[in-house]
Amino acid sequence: MKDPVCKMEVDESSGIVSEYKGKRYVFCSKACKETFDRNPDKYAK
Ligand SMILES: [Zn+2]
Repeated sequence: MKDPVCKMEVDESSGIVSEYKGKRYVFCSKACKETFDRNPDKYAK
């Protein structure tokens, strides 16, 4: 899956995931997750 914040290819088993409007998003780092959580509409497609 793709990290929606930095566009890096990440494995879902990284465990850093967020759910938004019923979709799962996976992140390369906590920093990217926090950026997403702060402004999900900007990154969720
Ligand atoms: Zn990232």
